[in-house]
Amino acid sequence: MTGIYIHVPFCIRKCPYCKFCSKPLRPADIPAYTAAVMRNISALSGKGITADTVYFGGGTPSLLPPESVEDILSALRSNITLVSPEITLEANPSSVTREKLIGWKNAGVNRLSFGVQSADDEELKFLGRLHDFSRAESTVRMAHEVGFDNISCDLMIGLKGQDSSSLDRTLDKMLRLPIMHLSAYMLSIEDGTAFDCEEVRCSVPDEDEVSDLYLQLCGRMKSAGFERYEISNWAKDGRRSRHNLKYWKLEPYIGIGASAHSDFGGRRYFCPDDIEGFMSAGVQRRECEDDSPDRFEEYVMLGLRISEGISRKRLAELGGEEAAKKIFGNAKPLIKAGLIEEKNGRIALTDKGALVSNAVITSLI
Ligand code: SF4
Repeated sequence: MTGIYIHVPFCIRKCPYCKFCSKPLRPADIPAYTAAVMRNISALSGKGITADTVYFGGGTPSLLPPESVEDILSALRSNITLVSPEITLEANPSSVTREKLIGWKNAGVNRLSFGVQSADDEELKFLGRLHDFSRAESTVRMAHEVGFDNISCDLMIGLKGQDSSSLDRTLDKMLRLPIMHLSAYMLSIEDGTAFDCEEVRCSVPDEDEVSDLYLQLCGRMKSAGFERYEISNWAKDGRRSRHNLKYWKLEPYIGIGASAHSDFGGRRYFCPDDIEGFMSAGVQRRECEDDSPDRFEEYVMLGLRISEGISRKRLAELGGEEAAKKIFGNAKPLIKAGLIEEKNGRIALTDKGALVSNAVITSLI
């Protein structure tokens, strides 16, 4: 089944490390953007699309009032078939109120992903976030109180001043929250962002220190009963992100909104990173990224991110028996090095392998 991604490209202000498509919100943007999303949803009508996930990502989707979320979800229900959908909304603790939580829940949102990032207020200040941990903590608890039982939090590693003890303290606090899922991101200094300078580069932990923090995180999450089902995602009681799994399992998804990507009908395409253009167009302009993607290579690159890994059978279906044999042959030294494990005709990354996933994938291909 298909996944629907709605990009909400507005933020209160730009975080210094962020390269996502977003801009400061003006009051008139919400109705104009909501209307543009709904026009694009109407354009999906009559195509026989059945979806089981909807994901509001950003930017800051929690800037959307419940009425906008309700309008967008009603448009989806009217134009495509939604089957027991997981409906996720990304939320920043600084833009959440009890009223909004109740409204989103009534509109059909059943999963929240909070950009908490750290429980250390100095680290949050370094990231330029608008919340402190106490605000994040009370917001996550409030979401749970109003009835959200599928809550995820984001955590960042590789931050200025972060070391093994501060990560331990952050995890102590975050793991006491009523969460079922955690996504961890390593800070990466992107060209053209405010962090793109020597001063910041020199102040953050180096690669070896970040590797140690990642392995520490893997150990702590396992002890807390969370399974690592993807390189940087952990879930409790099977509450994996059904939507994000579609990206790694090569299942189809349709992205709506400025900069949103799609993989649908055998083609990969994207909407340009042009917020004004998206709002003024009747239907979003699409640019083709790849009209004949190499599914064999994609399966290796994306399938290895998840804990199930890749299967010899599927490799043979996508690229032929010889190609499958070559991948499994290339895996042998990596298995010896403890970077990959092989089980029941599948290979998957170990925790150690997940740290150097790009190098492992290159060696395999
Ligand atoms: S809130 Fe998220 S999307 Fe917005 S600027 Fe900060 S990191 Fe980027």
